Amino acid sequence: MTEPAVTARAFFEKARGGQLTAIRCGSCGELAMPPKELCPNCHAHQWQPVALTGDGTIASFTVIRVAPRAHAADVPYAVAVVRLKEGVSVLGRIVDIPLEKLAIGLAVRFRPLIGKDLTTSVGFGPT
Ligand SMILES: [Zn+2]
Repeated sequence: MTEPAVTARAFFEKARGGQLTAIRCGSCGELAMPPKELCPNCHAHQWQPVALTGDGTIASFTVIRVAPRAHAADVPYAVAVVRLKEGVSVLGRIVDIPLEKLAIGLAVRFRPLIGKDLTTSVGFGPT
């Protein structure tokens, strides 16, 4: 078994620097992120890394009012599925957008969220 073109570790290291990366299937052209082992569309294993702009629109969102203990101090906050310009969707936390302004189709831009434990997660804020 060969290494994926973009490992989860590399994905989050790049995300930390503000760069979202997807992988494109060399066989059928399907985009995927975060990295997967096999193309869910054609089951090929020919991933090529693709840099994403980080611009997208909200496809759906949920306001979290009761959170796991680690995030309890942050409620309420929103998580959204964001459809990126390149056509791939990703789940991220919404920051710096008032909850009442959230709407399907709202334009957002990727930003890395660095946690207290220095882990990186995917966030989206205003464009
Ligand atoms: Zn494919």
